[in-house]
Amino acid sequence: MTTSAIATAPYQDLAAALRGSLVLPGDPGYDQARAVYNGMVDKHPAAVARCRDTADVITCVRFAREHGVEIAVRAGGHHAAGLGVQDGALVIDLSLMRSTTVSPGGHTVRADAGCTWGDVDHATVAFGMATPSGFLSSTGVAGLTLGGGIGYLSRRFGLTVDNLLAADVVLADGTFVTASESSHSDLFWALRGGGGNFGIVTSFTFRCHDIGEHGTIIGGPVLYDIADTAEVMRWYRDLVPSLPEELSGWIALLTIPPAPPFPEELWGRKACGIVWCYTGPHDRADDVLEPVRTFGSPLVVGLQPMPFSVLQSAFDPLLPPGLQWYWRADFFNEISDEAIDVHVKYGPRLPTGLSTMHMYPIDGAASRVAADATAFAYRSGGFAGVIVGVDPDPANAGLISQWARDYWEALHPTSAGGAYINFMMSEGQDRIKAAYRGNYDRLAQVKQRYDPGNAFHLNQNIQPAGG
Ligand SMILES: Cc1cc2nc3c(=O)[nH]c(=O)nc-3n(C[C@H](O)[C@H](O)[C@H](O)COP(=O)(O)OP(=O)(O)OC[C@H]3O[C@@H](n4cnc5c(N)ncnc54)[C@H](O)[C@@H]3O)c2cc1C
Repeated sequence: MTTSAIATAPYQDLAAALRGSLVLPGDPGYDQARAVYNGMVDKHPAAVARCRDTADVITCVRFAREHGVEIAVRAGGHHAAGLGVQDGALVIDLSLMRSTTVSPGGHTVRADAGCTWGDVDHATVAFGMATPSGFLSSTGVAGLTLGGGIGYLSRRFGLTVDNLLAADVVLADGTFVTASESSHSDLFWALRGGGGNFGIVTSFTFRCHDIGEHGTIIGGPVLYDIADTAEVMRWYRDLVPSLPEELSGWIALLTIPPAPPFPEELWGRKACGIVWCYTGPHDRADDVLEPVRTFGSPLVVGLQPMPFSVLQSAFDPLLPPGLQWYWRADFFNEISDEAIDVHVKYGPRLPTGLSTMHMYPIDGAASRVAADATAFAYRSGGFAGVIVGVDPDPANAGLISQWARDYWEALHPTSAGGAYINFMMSEGQDRIKAAYRGNYDRLAQVKQRYDPGNAFHLNQNIQPAGG
């Protein structure tokens, strides 16, 4: 794209053709429209198309193609690298497309691409069901799904992509297809982990599962003193494989938030903790949770019955949009003794109250799927680890980034190689290839078929084969 293309593209024609609105530089609301979740990202697009429907998306893709305008696609806007916005680009913003349709009998939910997981949980938990998603409700359905989707339900029901039944997609040439196992199956394979490389998904259909007692699960954090990190991590890594798949939990190093329900005397104290989620029948809960309730000397035991949607949104108030975020990630086959030594060193150095380290299990049902069955290649039964520097103050951007980089450098030698693309910054082609392992070449072939000109390149980009 050239500067003259930006200047000469007839945005007034595009505005007239849309059912949604087109926000241009200088318009009221431009700064709000260009903002993404990570406050470190400060990009100035040529225009933001706030699409209302699939027809708007098709119109935008055809316009961009005709006028040589770069395309950025934004759904929830959560990607740490700010991939949903770019200087000079046309941002195709899906965040107004948020309707959901539940089929209680069919155990499915159809979600428009602008939905957050809060929208989907709201719709399904009312029927006692959920589809596997993540650990937060404000994350976008689209970006999370297209990258894989790791969450509380992954152990029991697989990744989000393992529960995707169909996706409606606007392709780079402006045509529209529905991808599923029986239609455009190569595209459907690539969408399940290959990110936003192949087209713009306008809606997703997921399989749902009955969880807990009519959607009420037992969950919450159990927190230990940071000095107990080594002991807690060893216990956790040995315990998790023996647990029934109805119980999952991710382990974290964190600072206890200065807010209820945490006791005031613990506010600001550094901790090692596990956030548990039990989705089985409640009459078995005491037995299943017994090892969790009896281990060590916890500072906080926050386990309680709650609707799944409440657990999913429990951390939302701590993490409003606009904070500074810097992420570094890897996959880990195990939490080795060497890795624990690194966590013990860097946990007490958490640079700010919101900075954290998380390890999410990708085991159980998620690890029974073959590595080449979907584009998401890491199925070895380990963990997705992420070190995240977070703070509201831009003046601390350097501090949080340096801590995360140093921690990652020290931990990386214990990793399995490659990282979850949704936890990576813009880290170059070698890291993207490492993320996709043996699936990269097939992804490049599918990219060549559906987007040979790489129109959709503002993502963890897969280069078209032969290009
Ligand atoms: C606070 C926080 C918590 C998180 N927790 C989890 C978690 O528990 N589990 C997990 O798996 N991940 C988690 N993530 C990572 C999350 O999956 C990624 O940030 C994901 O990209 C977010 O999707 P989005 O739609 O909000 O992002 P966006 O920034 O809007 O999009 C991300 C990428 O996807 C592309 N894209 C978006 N929509 C479409 C579409 N409809 N069609 C084609 N391409 C599209 C964009 O162009 C961009 O490249 C978390 C992120 C944050 C910030």
